[in-house]
Amino acid sequence: MTQKSSNHIRVGSLIDGHGGPARKKQVVVVESGYIVDIYDDIAAEKLPAELVTDLTHCVILPILIDSHVHLCMSGSIDQEFREKQLEATYEELVPMIEEHLRHHFSHGVLAVRDGGDRSGCVLRYLEERHDPSALPVLVTSPGRAYHRRDRYGSLIGVCPEDDESLLQAVLRLAQPTRLIKVVNSGLNSMTRFAQQTEPQFSRQQLGELVSEAKRLGCKVMVHANGEDPVRTAIKAGCHSIEHGFFMGRQNLELMAEKGVYWVPTIYTMKAYALNAEHYRASIDVKVVEQNLAHQLEQVALARELGVKVALGTDSGSIGVLHGESMMEEMKLFMRAGFSLAETIGCATKQGAQLLGLTDLGTIEPGKPANFLVARGTPSQLPRKLTYLETMYLNGQPSQAYRRDPDYTTLRKFEGVAFSGKVRY
Ligand SMILES: [Zn+2]
Repeated sequence: MTQKSSNHIRVGSLIDGHGGPARKKQVVVVESGYIVDIYDDIAAEKLPAELVTDLTHCVILPILIDSHVHLCMSGSIDQEFREKQLEATYEELVPMIEEHLRHHFSHGVLAVRDGGDRSGCVLRYLEERHDPSALPVLVTSPGRAYHRRDRYGSLIGVCPEDDESLLQAVLRLAQPTRLIKVVNSGLNSMTRFAQQTEPQFSRQQLGELVSEAKRLGCKVMVHANGEDPVRTAIKAGCHSIEHGFFMGRQNLELMAEKGVYWVPTIYTMKAYALNAEHYRASIDVKVVEQNLAHQLEQVALARELGVKVALGTDSGSIGVLHGESMMEEMKLFMRAGFSLAETIGCATKQGAQLLGLTDLGTIEPGKPANFLVARGTPSQLPRKLTYLETMYLNGQPSQAYRRDPDYTTLRKFEGVAFSGKVRY
């Protein structure tokens, strides 16, 4: 029955990405890089030793996916540095993008969806330099986002000309990507609780874009906070709502009904609270904490209503570091009432579906044997994700992932960018 090439991996616990509780003492059978079977670990001891890999002291879980990052931005809290990085050239940004990808990789995040940058540098990097075989992190990027003139969004994108519709601007730029990012509200106020802004685009303009995007096989992700901006985007048929602070119950119900994804980026608000002292003039920490509490309530409601929630960090925002903020966002999902396994489901299966990645997302027969290995038990997650035991890619322990302590500290010191070292 057993072929010689098969590997029976005995694991202490398995979290498969579907959201159900961890299963103890399982055997994952791998052949030619694929999972062919998973069974209860009762008879495995009878197998010849050369066919068995012992990970009984570990928990395995699917590869993580961060559904919202900004690879062109660091999570630095230094305002001067943040302004400089916005003006940086493509050549200056390349080492920074690569450093951020290493940070994701070292935290078990092997797929990210970018949220846009003002010069389209991430998209250019993907076309010209990215080598997923050297560092296996998959990246999807919308390039430049679209916002309305004189409204929020110039940090990450461009606006249509005066005589142009949103769709015309998208067609004129014709960026080489199947992901379109639209900014449809302002930022959240850090000094007035629950302050809302007007939608940037009408339902008609957004709807026209979404119809054409569907025809072209593109997905539309929409930055939107507040009731009206979110409702406009959902009714126009967009694929996902990014952030969605203060969107309200009706919008969540509508999202559940229509199957629209939500990426709530909760940790951004906590990071503001943690770094408020650096921004005293523009941040009222009490308001930020209220914003955070409100978003946690919305996430709890989304869980109750069955909204598809994918986990994304918005890393690159103030105080939101690439890679490690994944753990912070997971902790907040759990604070909102998601179980550990459900949280991991949002960071794996839901992310894979949102990004359209069929080889990632879950650990199950028929899929490539891609998974993370953390020493210990599920109760030590998500903390242990910061120092993984190893990761398996296509059935083999990854050569690129080294448990070298210096390697994991790369996230703090290595990046040599345009003004010397990346500062945090
Ligand atoms: Zn963003």
